[in-house]
Amino acid sequence: MAKKIPLRQCIGCGEMKGKKEMLRVLRTGEDSIILDVTGRKNGRGAYICPSLECMKKARKTRGLDRAFKMSVPDEIYDSLTKEIELFE
Ligand SMILES: [Zn+2]
Repeated sequence: MAKKIPLRQCIGCGEMKGKKEMLRVLRTGEDSIILDVTGRKNGRGAYICPSLECMKKARKTRGLDRAFKMSVPDEIYDSLTKEIELFE
């Protein structure tokens, strides 16, 4: 039997991919959401493809709001967008 790779769903495009192909977004506090580049920090996480396109989609559909069950301010979407630009 093939080894199962744990898949994560992108908060932007909704595709399921392996963890290593994605970026982890982490909620570290009340209203602090960061891009966890090491993938090792503890906290509630969401996953997104390293793609601006997916970030745009996530913003449109408020994917982070849903993933973290909170109202995510636009500034957080802005700063994550800037960070994701570096990975493209
Ligand atoms: Zn995606």
